[in-house]
Amino acid sequence: MSKIFELPLYPYKRSADQDASTPARHRIVVIGAGPIGLGAAIDLAQYGVATIVLDDNDRVSWGSRAICFAKRPLEILDRLGCGQPMVDKGVAWNLGKVYFDNRQVYEFNLLAESGHKRPAFVNLQQYYFEQYLVDRFRALEADGAPAELRGKNSVTALVDEGATVLLTIETPEGAYQIRADYVIACDGANSPARRMLGLDFVGRVFEDNFLIADIVMEETASFPVERRFWFDPPFNRGQSALLHKQPDKVWRVDLQLGWNIDREKEIKPENVISRLKAFLGDIQFELEWVSIYTFQCRRMEKFRHGHVIFAGDAAHQVSPFGARGANSGLQDTDNLIWKLKLVLDGKAPESLLDSYDYERVHGAEENILNSSRSTDFITPKSEISRLFRDAVLDLSERVPGIRPLVNSGRLSVPCTYDGSPLNGPDHPDLPARTRPGAPVVDAPIGASWLIDALGNRFQLLTLNAEAPARLEIDGVVVDRLALDANSGSEDYLRQRYLGNADSAVYLLRPDQHVAARWTHYDADAVAEAVRKSTGR
Ligand SMILES: Cc1cc2nc3c(=O)[nH]c(=O)nc-3n(C[C@H](O)[C@H](O)[C@H](O)COP(=O)(O)OP(=O)(O)OC[C@H]3O[C@@H](n4cnc5c(N)ncnc54)[C@H](O)[C@@H]3O)c2cc1C
Repeated sequence: MSKIFELPLYPYKRSADQDASTPARHRIVVIGAGPIGLGAAIDLAQYGVATIVLDDNDRVSWGSRAICFAKRPLEILDRLGCGQPMVDKGVAWNLGKVYFDNRQVYEFNLLAESGHKRPAFVNLQQYYFEQYLVDRFRALEADGAPAELRGKNSVTALVDEGATVLLTIETPEGAYQIRADYVIACDGANSPARRMLGLDFVGRVFEDNFLIADIVMEETASFPVERRFWFDPPFNRGQSALLHKQPDKVWRVDLQLGWNIDREKEIKPENVISRLKAFLGDIQFELEWVSIYTFQCRRMEKFRHGHVIFAGDAAHQVSPFGARGANSGLQDTDNLIWKLKLVLDGKAPESLLDSYDYERVHGAEENILNSSRSTDFITPKSEISRLFRDAVLDLSERVPGIRPLVNSGRLSVPCTYDGSPLNGPDHPDLPARTRPGAPVVDAPIGASWLIDALGNRFQLLTLNAEAPARLEIDGVVVDRLALDANSGSEDYLRQRYLGNADSAVYLLRPDQHVAARWTHYDADAVAEAVRKSTGR
């Protein structure tokens, strides 16, 4: 078991707030230093917004959790300044294979096209991810960012006072209180904050158990770097199995066990080892981590409750098929933080925060729908569903048209905010994939990447079009990024941003989503779209 679990990364230190005679007031308090709380705090620190992060722990979360990180979250992590270590350490993969019984029925490439800086996925243990986030947070702190991470600070009460939120915090040296203008609750699936405000979830609990084993294998020549998924394999009859490579010669094995199991018996090392041997054959391995999990697909009805805003697992949960948990949580805070910054600066009305609710509930719904469908396909709920599923799997080997029906987990893709109240005008000649609401699609620009030239501010991306270098609309600055779509040797910009048009002007939000687009610059139209995308 990795030593990282024993290492306090943000040990408890007494803070001046604990000696204050009245509760100190802070702009933003983030509850939870899991991946989503830390992502939010780094984003805020990059904007120079004073932030306190409170966590009841002082180290990375225990055990084996997320391993698959998708391209869009990697791009968000690049914007947060910590994407590179993820990619350097992680195992990049694009290829997935699906098996039925002992036959491969088909394979798929998640990033079939080139011209992207980041791969479809990297696999990396969640504890490394959390460590890199803490490292980045510390680097920003060292550079003078007004951010503080308080370990062993457990939030035990929350009172919504209207304009502020009063928090009671338990520490090894007793309790204290602080006030916050806004609280971002990233305190995980069991979210004490949710309970303290008397809020609940809507959704489904799935009745199935999965055994997770992280194993270290020295000899892996016959194990390619791919996602491999088995339906009804001989080594786990009637159930499913999943195999993924992680760094440090660690492999994730995920075996479906069914509902009526004896958990204590199943988790015994000798039983786990015998299951793994049936799967992997005569190969040497060591167990690094074993657990049995069940899961839910559910979300809070609303993510914003006055000045308390929920993100990550606290707001929504999905089954791990599709790797949508941490990946979608990062998209929550990517969506929220720039809005909060504008509201705090008085450059947008507070109602802009309601668009977080609209856009991220839409994202969560999409994830829950995909995740529930995958789960229903993987674990059929009736004999007739199982017959249908097996017929689809059988046919898919020979009939490519059937393959879209096979669902071994539709893997995380970024959400497009279709219908968002922040979206401005569109133009029919421009490509659908970069329509208003969509995240930008990366493309090479010279020796660099489009994605690296974007983010953290409003920008006007012009392709073969004229526009001023900088605009200021009601205090919101918009910088131009001028590109020549005829210069790229492989025409990526043209395909992704021009379509049938000769020129284009894209208004991009600080989270790198398209707000509006035209074929030519029009000062009034752009100003109107900036106002709309900032909630005015
Ligand atoms: C088996 C498994 C596999 C998974 N695979 C993937 C995958 O491949 N890809 C993916 O994207 N996701 C995956 N996930 C989901 C992913 O692990 C979660 O979505 C992610 O950890 C959520 O992060 P979070 O920050 O919202 O919550 P958490 O990681 O749960 O962090 C919450 C934090 O809040 C703190 N806290 C709780 N209560 C308090 C309190 N009262 N006061 C102060 N602090 C508090 C906790 O100590 C913790 O640090 C997987 C999950 C599991 C279980």
